[in-house]
Amino acid sequence: MLTVSHLTKFYGKTAACRDISFALDPGSVTVLLGPNGAGKSTLMKSVIGFLRYDGAIQVAGLRNKSVEARRIMGYIPEFPSLYPNLTVSEHMEFIARAYRLTDYSGRIDELLRRFELDDKRRKFGDELSKGMQQKLNLCLGLLPQPQLLLMDEPMIGLDPHAIRQLKEIIEEMRAEGRTLLVSTHIIDSVDMLWDRALILQAGEIRANMTRTQLEESGSTLEDLFFEVTEGQGKEAPAESGAAE
Ligand code: ADP
Repeated sequence: MLTVSHLTKFYGKTAACRDISFALDPGSVTVLLGPNGAGKSTLMKSVIGFLRYDGAIQVAGLRNKSVEARRIMGYIPEFPSLYPNLTVSEHMEFIARAYRLTDYSGRIDELLRRFELDDKRRKFGDELSKGMQQKLNLCLGLLPQPQLLLMDEPMIGLDPHAIRQLKEIIEEMRAEGRTLLVSTHIIDSVDMLWDRALILQAGEIRANMTRTQLEESGSTLEDLFFEVTEGQGKEAPAESGAAE
C-alpha cells in the first residue's frame, strides 16, 4: 500500500532522513518509533507530499504526489492548524466539501460524539482548549476515511477517553482494510495496536519488524527500542525492508 524507496531528505546540511526504504501492507497498522529529532515527522511529510526529497514514494502503486494518490491518503499533523473564525461544525463541513464527501453528516455526528465535541459545535477554533483543538484535529483527519492514513504523534494532549476512542478507531480502520502509519515517541501509547514497528534514529531505520517476528524473538517493543537506539543488549534483528 505504501512503498518508500531510498528516501533521503536534507534540511541544509542536516540529513533528517537517510536512505530509508520500507513497505507497508494494506490493512495494517505500523508504528513509527524514534526519539525526538529522529526524522519521523520529516518521513511523514515526505510521504504526504509536502516536502522535496530524493528517492521514490508510491501509494497503491501511484506516485505519492499524483492527484490520484492524494485522494486516497490522509495526514493528521502533530500540531493542529485551525481557523480561528470557523466553528467546530464549520471546520468539519469544510473538510467534507474539500474532499467532496457525500452523506457525511452522520459520520460528523459520530466523530464529534466519540471525541466529546458534540456540545462544542458552535465554538470557534480559537475558543477551544488545547486538548479540544487536538481532538478536532483528529476528527478532521478521520472524516474522509482515507485508504492510507498517517498520524503524527496523535495521542499527545488527549484525555484517557479520547485515547481509548482513537485506539478503537485505529482498530476499526484496520478491520476495514485501511493502512495506518502512526508515529510516537511514547512506546506505551501504542503497544496493543501495531502489526509492524519501524524504529528510526538519526534519520535511519534501525529496526523493521512485524509483531510476530518480535514475539518470536522473545523481546518486547520497549526492549527492542532501547537495544537499537542505545545499543543495549544483543544486536537488533532487522528486515531489509527494501521496497521492490
Ligand atoms: P521527529 O519528528 O522524529 O522529532 P523531525 O523529522 O521533526 O524529527 O526532525 C528530524 C531532524 O530534522 C532534526 O534534526 C530536526 O532538527 C531537523 N528539522 C526538522 N524540520 C526542520 C526544518 N524545517 N528545518 C531545518 N531542520 C529541520
